[in-house]
Amino acid sequence: MPPTLNVPQGGDEAPLTLTEQAAEQLRRRGGYAPDGSAAEASAEDLAEIEWQLGRAPRGTAGISARCVCGRPWVVKTEPRLPDGTPFPTLYYLTHPAITAAASTLEASGVMKDMSARLETDPELRAAYGRAHEDYLAERERLGFVEQIHGISAGGMPTRVKCLHVLIAHSLSAGPGINPLGDEAIALAIRARQFDPSACQCIARPVAG
Ligand SMILES: [Zn+2]
Repeated sequence: MPPTLNVPQGGDEAPLTLTEQAAEQLRRRGGYAPDGSAAEASAEDLAEIEWQLGRAPRGTAGISARCVCGRPWVVKTEPRLPDGTPFPTLYYLTHPAITAAASTLEASGVMKDMSARLETDPELRAAYGRAHEDYLAERERLGFVEQIHGISAGGMPTRVKCLHVLIAHSLSAGPGINPLGDEAIALAIRARQFDPSACQCIARPVAG
């Protein structure tokens, strides 16, 4: 069964679902591996991220999701940066196309609707709470940092403040872990702003 994503669709009661194909593509795409073995960042990955973000990544722990072409979608960051700063954002979306899709969704006001549903839907609230716990558990595998203990990101566990964070979590953990990240991905796919089966990397001159 694909994860069922409950999205109000203006009177249409049918829940929005990630198609089985899209869910399977996302599952396979994740560099996510419980032992971390599939997620190491190469020098090439780091150079690509610097190109994507326009700055060098700091405290990189690995790549937790990749494009079909192999370029990073999401970088995983240590809970403490090299200069000692505590860093709660374990998963950071680096890919320009997905980042833009997340920004478009945020501008459309879906976060307000999601936050409102968290107040009235106990099942969604419970699932989002479990996503928060998953986020913290995965981060603690990299190390315990007192200052950010119990603090995740994106508004979890009770609010929705950043879809980039939720999408990065879903792309890294795979479908079925973060309900609102899954929902945001399904919305982006439906709006044809994101396609997990296609490379949406921006063409650039080959270094030579
Ligand atoms: Zn690509």
